[in-house]
Amino acid sequence: ELTPVITVDGPTGVGKGTLCSKLAAHLGFHLLDSGAIYRVLALAALHHKVDLANEEALYPIAAHLDVRFERTDSLVRVILEGEDVSSELRLESTGEAASQVAAFPRVREALLRRQRAFRQPPGLVADGRDMGTVVFPDAAVKLFLDAGAQVRAKRRFKQLQGNGINVNFDGLLNDIKIRDDRDRNRSIAPLVPADDALVIDSSNLTIDEVVNKAFAYIDLKL
Ligand code: C5P
Repeated sequence: ELTPVITVDGPTGVGKGTLCSKLAAHLGFHLLDSGAIYRVLALAALHHKVDLANEEALYPIAAHLDVRFERTDSLVRVILEGEDVSSELRLESTGEAASQVAAFPRVREALLRRQRAFRQPPGLVADGRDMGTVVFPDAAVKLFLDAGAQVRAKRRFKQLQGNGINVNFDGLLNDIKIRDDRDRNRSIAPLVPADDALVIDSSNLTIDEVVNKAFAYIDLKL
């Protein structure tokens, strides 16, 4: 009997992270934040002064990525080559760099096994873009979380403002659209719902409503 996996895919800023940590905590499952792996790779490439457009040079860095995810009470610290990169990791510029390196087939291939290794008993919640389509095609439950770019930009804007950070709304929206375009239109593992995924459009839902829908579906399938 294979360890069960719940995949949650969707575009940037749609609230996958929040949903996944709630699901994992409730079920007592492990959590894979696959975006963090692509982000770490982008940081490693920048540290080693490797061009983000150079697929051949990125491959060995991806294959030998020295990263640890250290779980403390509420947060996960990300250690790259012995250095804590947790705060750099969350920068929008890092997400943008990650989406550049993530478009290369050999890079994705090099990171496949590392992601699948997170599948450990009693179960896994996997957060990303291609969790249900490529990395865990046999997942027991597949969710695809969606919302319009405008809605996601507004949520992010409010969240940043709440943290006392002032940003330009149009710039934010533009960044989201650029990342969406790249992730949806790349030739390998594009952002698309798996055929057997439940699509939840969260545009007009609260976080609690999304979580409840997800749990209702998981109860049916698991
Ligand atoms: O989800 P997050 O914003 O951390 O992901 C950063 C980038 O990494 C995404 O824009 C996407 O290009 C890439 N990614 C991916 N496949 C995944 C997770 C993330 O290509 N499974």
